[in-house]
This record gives sequence, structure tokens and C-alpha cells, in this order.
Amino acid sequence: MPRVYIGLGSNLDDPRQQLESALQSLEQLPATDLVAVSSFYTSDSLSPGQPRYTNAVAALDSALEPIALLDALQSIENAQGRVRKERWGARTLDLDILLYGDQVIDEPRLKVPHYHMQARPFVLYPLAELVPADFLLADQRPLTQLLADCPFVGLERL
Ligand code: ATP
Ligand code: MG
Ligand code: MG
Repeated sequence: MPRVYIGLGSNLDDPRQQLESALQSLEQLPATDLVAVSSFYTSDSLSPGQPRYTNAVAALDSALEPIALLDALQSIENAQGRVRKERWGARTLDLDILLYGDQVIDEPRLKVPHYHMQARPFVLYPLAELVPADFLLADQRPLTQLLADCPFVGLERL
């Protein structure tokens, strides 16, 4: 089964509890094992005026195909009260597929590796907890290089 990395984020309605609930739901996905979870991190929202975010990364081994997994993640988001209004609005739960095994995916609904992960310390530093030091993304970028280009600024590890 491919190793899949999921980025979790929340900045509404008790973010830590939102992430804990989401992890329980990930554990219960069919044909999927929850392998590891990073520390939780908080950081200010990139959008002005929003509450602080709590983020983490989870590692799964999943036999779900990428789009089936995306559907399952969106169901979990919806079950936890995700409301989509403006882009990048505050949310109870965001579940993004960061990496799906060694696949590079470019479909209308799904781009993997996640297209903004290199700019997001709240994704890269938790991910780094879960992978070997010489880890390469599916597009062959070394994680160490992404970390070097994305300083640990504004993150608080819980
Ligand atoms: P961002 O993508 O910048 O993190 P967001 O997570 O808030 O923003 P969403 O509203 O959660 O954006 O998702 C918008 C759409 O992004 C989804 O409907 C989904 O089809 C698409 N998408 C593309 N690639 C991915 C991915 N790797 N993981 C999750 N969703 C993705
Ligand atoms: Mg997102
Ligand atoms: Mg998302």
C-alpha cells in the first residue's frame, strides 16, 4: 500500500479537538492504516483577521485510490462542519493530500505533491518529523532543500 501524507488544519471550534476527531476518522477509513502522526503546531493565519491555526501531518498506508481518498477526506471535513465560503476562509477542518506514494498527480480535482506545501512551514516541519532525513518528494525535490528555503518562523510546537 502506498504511504500517504495528509496535512490537517483547523482554526475554528476548538482546533486541537478538531484534529483529534479527524485522526480518529482517518484511523477508521477502509483499507487504510494510520501509521504515524506528527506533533501539533500553531501559527498565525496567512489571511489577516482569522484565528490562529493548529496543524499536523499524518502518515497513512492506504489502498484507496487517490480520488477515492480525496472523497473520503472531504466527507470527514463535511462531517466536522466544514463550510466553504471564500477561498482560504476560516475552517473547522482542512484535510489535504500532501503526498501519495511516489505518484505525481495533475488532475482537475487533485494535484499531488500539494502545490503549496513548499511555502508552508506548518506543513514541512511536521512532515519532517515523519520521514527519513534524506526524503525525496515524488517530484524528486529533497525535503531538506524545501526546509532550508522555508524557515521555521511563526510556528509554535505544542
Ligand atoms: P489550499 O489548497 O491552498 O490548501 P484549501 O485546502 O483551503 O486551500 P479546499 O477548499 O480545501 O482548499 O480545497 C479546494 C479544492 O482543492 C478541493 O475541492 C480539491 O478538489 C482541490 N485539491 C487539489 N489538490 C488537492 C490535494 N492535494 N489535496 C486536497 N485537495 C486538493
Ligand atoms: Mg489546505
Ligand atoms: Mg483543502
